[in-house]
Amino acid sequence: ASGYPLLRDPHYNKGLAFSEKERDAHFLRGLLPPVALSQELQVKKMMHNMRQYQVPLQRYMAMMDLQERNERLFYKLLIDNVEELLPVVYTPTVGEACQKGKILEVLKNWPQKKIQVIVVTDGERILGLGDLGCQGMGIPVGKLSLYTALGGIRPSACLPVTIDVGTNNEQLLNDEFYIGLRRRRATGQEYAELLDEFMSAVKQNYGEKVLVQFEDFANHNAFDLLAKYGSTHLVFNDDIQFVIGFSIINIDIGIFFVCNQGTASVVLAGLMSALNLVGGTLADQSFLFLGAGEAGTGIAELIALEMSKQTGAPLEEARKKIWLVDSKGLIVRSRMGSLQHFKRPWAHDHEPVENLLDAVKAIRPTILIGSSGAGRTFTKEVVEAMSSYNEKPVILALSNPTSQSECTADEAYKWSEGRAIFASGSPFGPVDYNGKVYVSGQANNAYIFPGLGLGLIISGAIRVHDDMLLAASEALAAEVSQENLDKGLIYPPFSNIRKISAQIAARVAAKAYELGLATRLPPPENLVEYAKAVCQFILFTSVLKQTIGLGA
Ligand code: NAP
Ligand code: MN
Repeated sequence: ASGYPLLRDPHYNKGLAFSEKERDAHFLRGLLPPVALSQELQVKKMMHNMRQYQVPLQRYMAMMDLQERNERLFYKLLIDNVEELLPVVYTPTVGEACQKGKILEVLKNWPQKKIQVIVVTDGERILGLGDLGCQGMGIPVGKLSLYTALGGIRPSACLPVTIDVGTNNEQLLNDEFYIGLRRRRATGQEYAELLDEFMSAVKQNYGEKVLVQFEDFANHNAFDLLAKYGSTHLVFNDDIQFVIGFSIINIDIGIFFVCNQGTASVVLAGLMSALNLVGGTLADQSFLFLGAGEAGTGIAELIALEMSKQTGAPLEEARKKIWLVDSKGLIVRSRMGSLQHFKRPWAHDHEPVENLLDAVKAIRPTILIGSSGAGRTFTKEVVEAMSSYNEKPVILALSNPTSQSECTADEAYKWSEGRAIFASGSPFGPVDYNGKVYVSGQANNAYIFPGLGLGLIISGAIRVHDDMLLAASEALAAEVSQENLDKGLIYPPFSNIRKISAQIAARVAAKAYELGLATRLPPPENLVEYAKAVCQFILFTSVLKQTIGLGA
């Protein structure tokens, strides 16, 4: 395109960054204000504008506008300001946008044929906010922009999909402006058949190597989808956890396929890195979770899997080091009859214990993990008890948003007299305690999935395997420097995310080759260099290439 259409093409439009020469070559004279701005200046200006907005939703809308107008500037902005903008394009602002009914114009005939990553949702459990029907589209779009910005995957190779099967959200059903199907959600066979058609079509169109990430499906559906397509498609779920009955089934037939998800992998990485401060191995630790839902049981399962790989002990043995508390107290064998199936593997022998504090006293864990969604539950007494049994208690308060965090960073350091190794699901700023500055990490899924996706793509992997998640955890943990650890930080700074993604990608790809699941042959000689090059290539040369393509 040239002239006016060029300015309307988000892939090629550079706005004021078109140079004098380009303006002549592409008939842009008179269509733009006379001043040419460098992309650096555009970034500066855009960030300046963004910071004027008080309401997160306004920032989100500005970013989405930019993505539709000038894609390069969008990604440049996101890459250069990842810590500031990540919360804007990703959780929690996307949730707000979807909630408020700002619908993203993405449902259209997709012009790109070579797709590498699909993020698909049916909008039923958006960010745990609930059923947003067709308006869940912000989630796949946001996720994919991170695959690009953090993992170096070309924007044109990403496809966001919302499968509209109706909604059970009364408010939407009664909203005259609702853009989705005005009916209750399809279930059972009707639902299964539609999904099946989708999955078959995906494979038919894009081949075996397209990564399909299921995002924010309701638990029961997500579980079924992974179980059904895990052995036929390259599927991944970032926030499904539980899958325990499933792993038992699969161990019998020789496939480990426990929790297809990013959360557990991120948390495991944090724990691996915390061991550098605490000493000992994973198997030397004992774990107590507050919250035995999707997140808690999923994380627990991946920890058990890693432990059993390290020690050679059976998974059932490894699980015995891990205890969980739910709303009814410690999960113990005498409760077995009334437990949901995904809790049963965690029902160990112990007398009943009613609350968290008593459970801490009874179990004396070295690691305490909050995954309950209930804020203020790591009380002073709980943290003090942890600190009385451990020189360096590891305390992870994973519940989001900040208001639901089990405790604050401030409280963790204060109540443990500066001894806690703390990380959280929602970010906290640095804490000054007794003259020392402590920096706590954030267990953010965005550390893992872009690198994992890139690793799958560069190896041409055809299946996701749990060992790849473990490899991703190891790679992430290895990126934490001594300097980070000295401040109490068990996750590396986000500003290095593309380097981190390349390292994760390399380990994941290496694992894919090792497992015989890679199809890109022969393998690149140096996977790390290769992954880095792919990341860099997208970052720098896609701009160059497009400029050349335009004849400038
Ligand atoms: P979920 O499936 O609803 O599970 C919540 C669990 O917590 C249930 O086992 C529930 O008990 C228990 N629980 C709730 N309130 C409690 C209380 N006051 N005392 C004791 N137990 C209580 O939720 P989920 O999907 O696992 O998510 C849980 C939290 O983890 C959310 O806040 C989410 O934001 C966070 N999360 C963080 C990350 C991350 O940091 N990367 C990732 C995923 C999730 P019952 O089973 O008895 O009802
Ligand atoms: Mn999600």
